[in-house]
Amino acid sequence: MTKFQGIGVSPGIAIGPVYRLPDLHQKIPDHRLPPEEVEAELQRLDRALEETERELEKIRVQAAKNLGSAAAEIFNVHLLLLKDRGLKARLVRQVKEGWNAAYAVTQVLHDYLDYFQRIDNSFLKDRRGDLEDVGKRLVRNLLGLKIQLSDIREKVILVGYNLSPSETASLSKKDVVAFVTEVGGPTSHTAIMARSLEIPAVVGLKGIDQLFRSGAMMIVDGQAGVVILDPDERLVREYTRMRSNLREASQALESLRGKTATTRDGHRVCLGANIEMPTEDVSVLSHGADEIGLFRTEFLYLNRDDLPDEEEQFRAYRRVVEKLRPMSVTIRTLDLGGDKFSSALGMPEEVNPFLGWRAIRFCLARPDIFRVQLRAILRASAHGKVRMMYPLISDLEEVKAARAILEEVKEGLRREGRPFDEKMPVGAMIEVPSAALAAGAIARRVDFFSLGTNDLIQYSLAVDRVNERTAHLYNPFHPSVLMLIDHVVKAARAAGIGVGLCGEMAADPATAFLLIGLGLDHLSMAPLAIPQVKQVIRLTNYREARRFARRILAMESAEQIAGEVRDNHERLLARESKGRPKKKTRSDDQT
Ligand code: PEP
Ligand code: MG
Repeated sequence: MTKFQGIGVSPGIAIGPVYRLPDLHQKIPDHRLPPEEVEAELQRLDRALEETERELEKIRVQAAKNLGSAAAEIFNVHLLLLKDRGLKARLVRQVKEGWNAAYAVTQVLHDYLDYFQRIDNSFLKDRRGDLEDVGKRLVRNLLGLKIQLSDIREKVILVGYNLSPSETASLSKKDVVAFVTEVGGPTSHTAIMARSLEIPAVVGLKGIDQLFRSGAMMIVDGQAGVVILDPDERLVREYTRMRSNLREASQALESLRGKTATTRDGHRVCLGANIEMPTEDVSVLSHGADEIGLFRTEFLYLNRDDLPDEEEQFRAYRRVVEKLRPMSVTIRTLDLGGDKFSSALGMPEEVNPFLGWRAIRFCLARPDIFRVQLRAILRASAHGKVRMMYPLISDLEEVKAARAILEEVKEGLRREGRPFDEKMPVGAMIEVPSAALAAGAIARRVDFFSLGTNDLIQYSLAVDRVNERTAHLYNPFHPSVLMLIDHVVKAARAAGIGVGLCGEMAADPATAFLLIGLGLDHLSMAPLAIPQVKQVIRLTNYREARRFARRILAMESAEQIAGEVRDNHERLLARESKGRPKKKTRSDDQT
């Protein structure tokens, strides 16, 4: 029995046999061909290229159907890489030099990957996974080593060096109970897809590829990031019990789906879902969200070589709005830059991209692109309840400039006789300290605020949110972060506008008590996190939470605050499990 610690990127417990994915890291046969076999090998290469193209085409169509057009774009990139004429010419040259085709693929791919790694171009660097994915598929077709994930008939735990986006997209919860990979991080495509498919997953387990064999038993805890190989009976029993406890707990929470997030003393909080893909409506509904608090629209622009036009965007936004009606959907305008780049735009390399040409700054500099999105959002507003917000506002002038463009766009739509909601609320994301401090002035020009704490934390503490070396300094409980949140809430209140929070902080049930106490009445998070946060809110007494927040705001150390938040959460849950007689409250009447 061996225990491994990795990074848990998608919660849940799974127990089952290992199914190892073959990959490019395994030994590929290498041999020289006698001259008379070269022609036949070239034909084999051609057939494998054609077969790979057909497969990718098929997956692209499936992905478009199951995951939406943005996910399908990943496979457009794969097809472009596969059909690259330079790649084919190099493969042919290697075979003509006498190498077998599978070996030629690994050699050429190795050179390309090396080049993509060295070159100072983050777009190409990011395409390494895609290129590897295409290479694997081609090698499998050449070697007749076809693993069809869709053919797996027993419930297995997939283990591989890397699980590519195309493999993840074809997983079915029916057959794959979890997956474990050696590489990857919590924000990789693979992790994002695992969470939206709700399949437990652990990544970043160094060396596993060598250790695990198909058929061995394994336990995966996707929350704790723990993987146990060949567990003994006692552990299997323990994790089986934990798994059924988790299932029971989540079933118990299911009963909250139709209920409101209202505190014991009748204070209503609106729980929103954050979505990236237009097809996430099922998850939103099944987890009982009240609204979409953040629709990140960048996904429509990534992994493709062109820009989504107005019609494509309009259809994507309208789909969400219509499916979820009468829910309110807050669409965030484009937040490219930082760590998200579009290949279609040829955005320049920057020394400090998070401080650079990002989000609203980019949109104001490229009104041609901005206008297309604004038209699409406005048109979607005719089909349901749409709100729109601008990311990364750092100065009042940006709000004014964005509003001027919006007015022009509205005027254009009016002239064309296209319907839209004339009263569509327009908000600002508060995620830069300058905007937080100037919140009073900004609040008078917008209809609502949404606190983007993922960025607010990185900018106020000067800690890069994607750098693992400084991750220990990235702390939502830093007193200055809480002071900024408090200041923004008070400014919103004074101006009479709504204020919510849609950073990852909102998804932590232990933090919910504090956030409510700080006066936030809209919290938005990954759909999966909603039931637990709702449970906490329903156990909360609003007046107690207000007092707690005031006490926390007087504290000087992040460590002390984190301790208080944790202790308070435990007390809250213990109080509930002791079954203290519940007073009849207004919240019960409302649900
Ligand atoms: C945030 O910064 O908190 C936020 C919600 O936006 P993103 O994570 O997309 O930057
Ligand atoms: Mg942000």
